[in-house]
Amino acid sequence: RVKIMIEKILKKIDEYECICLYRHVNPDYDAFGSQFGMYDLIQNTFENKEVYFAGDFSSDLVAKYQFNGEINEPNFEKPTLGIVLDTANQERIDGDISLCKEIIKIDHHIVVDSYGNLNLEDSTASSCSQIVALFLKNKRVKLSSFGAAALYMGIIGDTNRFMYSATDERTFEAAIYLYNYDFDMQALYERMYMKHVKDLKVNAFILNHYIEDEGVAYYVLKDEDLKHLNISRERGSDFVNLLSSVDEYKVWLAITENTKDHNWRVSMRSRHIPVNEIANKYRGGGHAFASGATLLSLDELSLLLNDIKERINE
Ligand code: AMP
Repeated sequence: RVKIMIEKILKKIDEYECICLYRHVNPDYDAFGSQFGMYDLIQNTFENKEVYFAGDFSSDLVAKYQFNGEINEPNFEKPTLGIVLDTANQERIDGDISLCKEIIKIDHHIVVDSYGNLNLEDSTASSCSQIVALFLKNKRVKLSSFGAAALYMGIIGDTNRFMYSATDERTFEAAIYLYNYDFDMQALYERMYMKHVKDLKVNAFILNHYIEDEGVAYYVLKDEDLKHLNISRERGSDFVNLLSSVDEYKVWLAITENTKDHNWRVSMRSRHIPVNEIANKYRGGGHAFASGATLLSLDELSLLLNDIKERINE
């Protein structure tokens, strides 16, 4: 089934001269990895394609991919094919797909909205980058070492270095295909995991200030904390796994103030307790054990915590 869908997607790309690549807002390694990976795949597999990007590229993560090409938005004068990567629902797409003639969705989240004309959806895949990497099973598909590294970073980011349970033989199969493109793996891990002293200070702050509530642990970063710690709001959730792998905590959260949108961004992680339905209730969604949500004010936090505790006690 996947094989046939990949064939259809390649045919569709054949039909268009202009292609625009989309991914979700709040981009992470897998979002950028699958977007850059697909760019590289198209440029190396097809001739005479104009490939554009949609979305905000101001994230600190972008530099880690070492992309040498140009990031341009399409003008939609020619019929444009939109390929949306790693994005479960239309509202979360970073950019406007309405001017695209056709849409291809490639995603690994729980299926809530099959908004594409073609939908390659596999919620059992570790990452969207893995799905894109396995296009290489089709003999026609080629990458460069840039694209291979980008997809590898996506897989590493979403599996936390092959640790999470969605890691399976397809994940390692994808890794082998990418490994054969001969990028510098050690340099890649350094780009992803080297820290600054500033990050240690954030860790110290979180470990000193986090709150525990029965089986739940969470930290709150108010805007004044972000300023004091000298980190951007977008990085507020990056430290959520400081509270992971603690026997007493079944669910752990990062809560970061967003003064621009007047709300609070929540990242939820868990061991064995599905949290995605709770995330849905608070304007979010995601995976069973890793979801995001939004609180309109901190007053909503106790409701969210009660829902989580109820789930733990079920
Ligand atoms: P985050 O906590 O932002 O890292 O998100 C964890 C996972 O949930 C990621 O795979 C996100 O793509 C997904 N996610 C976060 N927020 C939402 C949302 N509002 N709707 C659907 N999925 C989300």
